[in-house]
Amino acid sequence: MKVDNFPKDIQQFLIPEPKGELFYQCLGCDAAYPINELLYVCPKCGQVLLIHNRNFDELKKISGKTWQQIFDYRRMLNIPALKGIYRYHEFIGPNIPLASIIYLGEGHTPIIEANKKLQDKAGGIKFYYKNDGQNPSASFKDRGMASALSYIKYLIDNKLASNIIAVCASTGDTSASAALYASYLTPDIKSAVLLPYKKVTPQQLSQPLGSGAKVFEIPGVFDDCMKIVEKLSEEYPVALLNSKNAWRILGQESYSYEIAQDFEYEMQDKVVVVPIGNAGNISAVMNGFLKFYEAGIINCLPKVIGVQSEHADPVYRYYLEPDKNRRVFKPVTVKPSVAQAAMIGNPVSMPRVVAIVNKYNDISGRQNVFFTQVTEQEIMDWSLEANRNGHIACTQGGESLAGLVNAAKQGIITNKEIAIVDATAHAIKFSGFQDQYFQKTIDKEYEIEPNQNLINLPTLVMPENHEKIPAQGKPLSDEDFKIFAGDISRKIAAELNLEKTNS
Ligand SMILES: *Cc1c(COP(=O)(O)O)cnc(C)c1O
Ligand SMILES: [Zn+2]
Repeated sequence: MKVDNFPKDIQQFLIPEPKGELFYQCLGCDAAYPINELLYVCPKCGQVLLIHNRNFDELKKISGKTWQQIFDYRRMLNIPALKGIYRYHEFIGPNIPLASIIYLGEGHTPIIEANKKLQDKAGGIKFYYKNDGQNPSASFKDRGMASALSYIKYLIDNKLASNIIAVCASTGDTSASAALYASYLTPDIKSAVLLPYKKVTPQQLSQPLGSGAKVFEIPGVFDDCMKIVEKLSEEYPVALLNSKNAWRILGQESYSYEIAQDFEYEMQDKVVVVPIGNAGNISAVMNGFLKFYEAGIINCLPKVIGVQSEHADPVYRYYLEPDKNRRVFKPVTVKPSVAQAAMIGNPVSMPRVVAIVNKYNDISGRQNVFFTQVTEQEIMDWSLEANRNGHIACTQGGESLAGLVNAAKQGIITNKEIAIVDATAHAIKFSGFQDQYFQKTIDKEYEIEPNQNLINLPTLVMPENHEKIPAQGKPLSDEDFKIFAGDISRKIAAELNLEKTNS
C-alpha cells in the first residue's frame, strides 16, 4: 500500500529519517566510542561492546500504542528496505539511511503452532516454533548480518571505509550468512571465512564456497578459529563479522520484535526458548524485549530459557551457582555435539549475557531468565520428532524443544504459559546427522543410540526379472515396461497394505 493511503496521523512516522545517536559502550570499563569506525572490543580494556542510542528517550515520546500502529502499518508498505529487520528501524539502526540498507529477504520468519500431537508428547505445554531456518541462508544469522553489512555499506557510502575484507570464524552458519551478504556487495566487500576442519556440515561448507568467499579450514574446533580471527582483526585491517561485532547483536534483536508483533504485543505468560552457543543470540533476544519494554511497546517481559547440550554447557554451568556474587565463569572443553552450531566452550558474548540477565531479572522483579541442559540423545530425538510432525527444525531447534521438555519437568514453565521455541536453522543444513542416525553410523562420542521407531530408510523396489529394468537412455519396450510397472506397483501396494479398488 502507498503511504498516501494510510491514516493521516500515522503517515509522518511510516518512512523513517536517519536519526538517533548511536555509540559503542564497553561492558568492562563503561567507556563510550563513536560509531564512525568499526570497533569490536574496547580499545582500552579489550572487553566486548554493545551499541546504544543516546537519544533512546526520544523514542518514548511516541506512545507504545502508536509504535504498535507504526510497525503494523509498515507491514503493508512495499519498500524493500523496510521489509526485513528494519521494519523496526528506530530500534535496529536509526542512523542508517534507507539507501544503505541491504535486504535479502531476512526476518519476518513464521511462527507456527506446533502440531497438537507433538505438544502432547512434549509435556502438554502449548508451543510455537519460530522458523528462523526460513531466512535466506537458512539460519537466524542473516538478521545480524543484514545489520552488520548495512552498517558497513553506510560507512562505504559515506567514504568512511573502502575495500573491506570481511572475516569471520564460524560453526557453519555465520560464514554462510557473511559470505552471502558480502557477495551481494561485490566488489566493495570481499569475504574470508575460517571453519574448523571437518566440523561443519557439507551443506554449510557449500554455502560460502558458492557465494565466492575465500574459505579456510583450520584444524581444531570453533573456539580455536575464533582466536585466530581475533588475532587477524587485532593486527590487520579486516572487518570482523562474528557476533563479537555489536552490530550483529543489534540486528538479531529483531527476533524479539517480531515475536512481540506477531502476538499483538501481548507478552503475558509467554516463554521464549533459545539454544546457546556463542551466546550472541540470547543476548540479542533479551535486549530486544528490554528495549520494547522500555519504550512501552510491550507491558511485560517474557520469560527466557537458554538451552545447552551437556557436551558444550559453560553458560548453564555458570548459572548453577544461585548466588550471583559467587558465580565464576569457566570455559569448557567441548565434546562432539549434533547441535554443532552451538558447540562452543568459551562464548564470546558471556559478559553480555551476565550484564543483560541481571538487568532482565531486575526489571522483571523476579527471576525471569533460566538455563537448562539437555543430552545429545534428547537433542537428536526431539529434532526428528519435530520434523515427523510437520516442522523443519534443525538439531539446534531440537535442542530448544528438548530444553522446553526439561524445563516443564523442572517446573520452570507450566501449562498456563505459551512457549515460542527457536528453530535457529533449517533441518536440511544438518541432514548428515539424520543420515548417520538412520544408518546407525553415528560416532560413539556423540553418545546417541538411534531409536528404531524414528529410523526411516529408503526401500529399493526391484521387479521379479532384474534384467528387465529401465535405465538412462535405454527405455524398456512397451510390453516389458507394462510387466515392470505391474511388478513394482504390486510390491509398493503390498508394503503399504493397500487393497485393490473394484473398478
Ligand atoms: C549460531 C547458531 C546458534 C548459536 O547462537 P549463538 O548466538 O552463537 O549463541 C544456534 N543455532 C544455529 C543454527 C546457529 O547457527
Ligand atoms: Zn573498556
